[in-house]
Amino acid sequence: MEPVIGIDLGTTYSAVATVENGKSIIVPNRSGQRLTPSIVGFTATGERVAGERARMLGDDAPDRIAPATKRYIGRRWTAELALAAKHVVPYPLMAGPSGEVRIKVAGRTLPITQISAMLLGELKLDAEAFFGRPVSKCVITVPANFDDGQRFATRESARIAGLDVLRIINEPTSAAVSYGLTTQFQGRALVFDLGGGTFDVSILEVEKGVFEVKATGGDPSLGGEDFDNRIVQWLTAQVPDPYREAVLKDRISMNRLKHAAERAKRTLTDKNEAFISVAELGDHSSEGGKRFAQLDTALTRDFFETLSEPLTKRCLEVCQKVMSDAKLSPKSIDALLLVGGMTRVPLIRKLVTDFFGKAPVGGVNPDEVVAQGAAIHAHELLEKQGSALLIDVATHSLSVGVLGGTVRKLISKNTSVPAQAKETFLPGRSNQQSARIPIFQGEADYTDECTKLGEVVLQDLKAGQRADLPIEVSFELSAEGTLAVRAVDTTTGIAESIRIEARTTLAPTEVEKLRAEQGVYAAKEGLKDKAAANDAFPRVLAKAERLVQLLEKSAQENPSAQAEAAVGQVRSLLAQGQAAEKAKDAAMMAEVTRLLERVISKN
Ligand code: AMP
Repeated sequence: MEPVIGIDLGTTYSAVATVENGKSIIVPNRSGQRLTPSIVGFTATGERVAGERARMLGDDAPDRIAPATKRYIGRRWTAELALAAKHVVPYPLMAGPSGEVRIKVAGRTLPITQISAMLLGELKLDAEAFFGRPVSKCVITVPANFDDGQRFATRESARIAGLDVLRIINEPTSAAVSYGLTTQFQGRALVFDLGGGTFDVSILEVEKGVFEVKATGGDPSLGGEDFDNRIVQWLTAQVPDPYREAVLKDRISMNRLKHAAERAKRTLTDKNEAFISVAELGDHSSEGGKRFAQLDTALTRDFFETLSEPLTKRCLEVCQKVMSDAKLSPKSIDALLLVGGMTRVPLIRKLVTDFFGKAPVGGVNPDEVVAQGAAIHAHELLEKQGSALLIDVATHSLSVGVLGGTVRKLISKNTSVPAQAKETFLPGRSNQQSARIPIFQGEADYTDECTKLGEVVLQDLKAGQRADLPIEVSFELSAEGTLAVRAVDTTTGIAESIRIEARTTLAPTEVEKLRAEQGVYAAKEGLKDKAAANDAFPRVLAKAERLVQLLEKSAQENPSAQAEAAVGQVRSLLAQGQAAEKAKDAAMMAEVTRLLERVISKN
């Protein structure tokens, strides 16, 4: 079977998983790490770097890297968004031709979808190195509160990266699938997902392999980075007076403080105090006579918790809202799943435990469980076993704007998807020649408090009384949360479909150009990876030979059927490896490498 992967494309870290022998496993990246920083960068010589290398590049050249771009995927550029971004990311946001967000990094202006495609492309290369063959089929996870535009843009990125997305699923649902299927859990689960940049809460009912999302909620701009920024604010206040102003304007200094803050936050997960030392804080742009300050301080867990109070309060408010939307009491939750790196923070664990009156379930790796659920789902979609059925919900209400600036909801938030709704509207006036039907997303009753998705315009209406000219509007929300709208003039039978203007898609020609560029890059990198795997393979075989000798010796000293079997297993792997090397069979070489590593880690 063709390999399929699950991708958790996170704000700060991404993970890839697959299913092997019926179990989900993490696919390590080409550096052997299980998580990859979601960062792309360009060196001074124009080389593209991603993951850990990009993170390191950012230490000295923050203007050359693009971290946390997930915050802006599929979003429309606005002055407010650009202003808010100034405090959060090291790159400026600009408006692209269709109103999409582009960013300036290393002197280039790139669409967010391209950066995201570069990341996905890197994860694809990692998976291909792991399997020794092409990989394209995947399931990608997104935060539950991603709207139509953000989902659409994620798909567009995947397309540029050369990936074939079987389905986009919600991160919390994915976590529940992974947990539910591995533990045979049945009941009501709550997934509390606090990642680097977003916060999601979902309630699911799990029964006989069916996962039904009952309610979701969250805060799309609350995550670990906000906690880091609270520490950064506290740190900058301690920079001595003559330097502080320069530090606040200096990207290198701010990036150093941000890294130090994140490290301190992680330290405080295990320890009560974190020592922070940041050198060379000042203006890095001025030539000659540079003077820098050094900052040495300590942050206690107690004080970090005080600093975090406004953020933890927001987390609690979201939980309260989701529970009241779902008309459930915190006690009615059977299993509490903590997902996202931030849920390692003791204060967050305590907060959740106190609110729900029970401890979170154990055995869930908060950084990996989402990718694993996606891999399981991808595997099932391909095998069409259907043993786990996913029923998700609409994460926003969808409405038609009517007279008086109000909205008429056709699909309410938390309705199971796929969903259809149909309603008849009348033109605003009699003898109107055309009718505009605006479509909105959001929970408010007034159009100006909702997000406009676009409008359908019906032309050439018949002359007559408005009551005699009904227009039928139908909404279709797909299983992965994308919307199609159709309006029919029932008198003439003329129908129009909506182009969702809120989707900030790139022009098809640009998508094709970026896709071709990515294809060239991936082909080149793929060849390098293949050469590296070929070079490394003799060492893998040498390791296997040593292991055979070692196992033979121990089988002679302590003979047993088990010891014999172990020798036989490694011998057979060695023979397979030798044959694969001779045949230059990259997929087989990759498989032998993986199996051997598993044997070695057990011995
Ligand atoms: P995610 O987006 O799920 O990868 O979450 C990443 C966030 O979790 C980042 O803000 C990290 O700083 C944070 N994080 C990861 N590990 C830890 C840890 N051990 N202690 C505290 N925060 C962590």
